[in-house]
Amino acid sequence: MYDVIIVGAGAAGLTAAIYTCRKKLRTAIISIDVGGQTNLTSHIENYPGTGPMHGMELMQRFQNEAIGFGAELIMGKVNKVDKTEKGFKIGLANGEEYECKALILAYGKVPRSLGIEGEEKFMGRGVTTCVTCDAPLYKNREAVVIGGGNSAVEGALELATIARKVYLVHRRGTFRADEITVEKLKENKNIELVLNSVVAKIVGGKNVESVEVENIATKEKKFFKVDGVFIEIGYVVDTSFVQHLVKVNERKEIIVDERGNTSCPGIFAAGDITPVPYKQTVIAAGDGSKAALECYRWLTGGKGAVLDWS
Ligand SMILES: Cc1cc2nc3c(=O)[nH]c(=O)nc-3n(C[C@H](O)[C@H](O)[C@H](O)COP(=O)(O)OP(=O)(O)OC[C@H]3O[C@@H](n4cnc5c(N)ncnc54)[C@H](O)[C@@H]3O)c2cc1C
Repeated sequence: MYDVIIVGAGAAGLTAAIYTCRKKLRTAIISIDVGGQTNLTSHIENYPGTGPMHGMELMQRFQNEAIGFGAELIMGKVNKVDKTEKGFKIGLANGEEYECKALILAYGKVPRSLGIEGEEKFMGRGVTTCVTCDAPLYKNREAVVIGGGNSAVEGALELATIARKVYLVHRRGTFRADEITVEKLKENKNIELVLNSVVAKIVGGKNVESVEVENIATKEKKFFKVDGVFIEIGYVVDTSFVQHLVKVNERKEIIVDERGNTSCPGIFAAGDITPVPYKQTVIAAGDGSKAALECYRWLTGGKGAVLDWS
C-alpha cells in the first residue's frame, strides 16, 4: 500500500513526487514514459533557472530529483482506477495492480497526430505541436501551420510575427476560428493560406526541409520549402478510466479547484490533464507541487502543509 500513487511522469507528476517524498510519503509514479511532452522540445528556453537545453535533459533532472528523494518508478499504462475501502486500486494494461491511500493524476494529454510520413521521424527536429513554445526558434525562417481552429489560426498569427513566411494549410475552405481572428489572418501579408489541402508528407535530411501539400479537390501536389511544421489540430485527453470517479469538463479535462482537489476526496490532479490555461512545463511543475502539498494535507487530516509562510 503506497501513501500516494502518481499517474504520469511528466513535469507535473515528477514535481509532485519530489514534494510527496520530501514529506516522507511512500510514493510510486506509474507512467508510460518519463518526461512526457517536454521531451518533445529540443530546445526549452522558458523554464526559469536552467538556461536553454533539450527538454529530455530537463526532464532527466526532474527524474533524478524525484528518485533521489525516494520515489519508486513503475513503467506501465494505467487503464483502471477503482475506489476501495482504504483508498484506490490502480490497474495497468499489463494486468499489474497497485494500491494507494491517495492518488495524483498527472498524465497530461497527447497532441493529436496526422499519421503522415515524416511526422514521427522529424518530431523535435522541425515538427512541433506547440507554437507558443517553439515559434521563437523560427526567426526569419519559413514554416507551415496545419489546422483550421483557433489554435492553428492564432498560432499562424503569432508565428508570422517571427518567421519570414508562414503557410497555413487547412483541409476545409473556411476556418472554425473566431471571425475577428480570421480577419486578421486574411490581412496578414506574411501568411499564405493553402485551403482545401492537406500536408501529405514531411521531407528532410537531419531536420525538416519541405512538405508535400495535396489539394483535396484537384489532387494537385506541391512542395513547399519550410524549416518548421506546426501541427495544431488539437489534443487527445483520455479520462475514460477515471470519469466514474472525478468530474471532467466538455474537453474531458479533470476539473480541479485552486489546490488541485478533484471532485473525489483523495484524488488530486495537476498539469495538462486539468483545465489549467497556458499549458507549459513550468505551469505543470507548479501545479504538481500544489497538488502534492494538498494531498499531504488531506492524508494528515488537514493538519499537514501550511498554506502560506505568514
Ligand atoms: C512539441 C512540444 C513542445 C513544447 N515546448 C514547450 C516549451 O518550450 N516550454 C514549455 O514550457 N512547454 C512546452 N510544451 C508544453 C509542455 O511540454 C507541457 O505543458 C507539459 O509537458 C505538461 O506536463 P504534464 O506533466 O502535465 O504532462 P505530460 O508532459 O503530458 O506528461 C504526462 C505523462 O503521463 C504519462 N501518461 C499518459 N497517459 C498515461 C497512462 N494512461 N498511464 C500512465 N502514464 C501515462 C505520459 O507517458 C507522460 O510521461 C511543449 C509541448 C509540446 C507537445
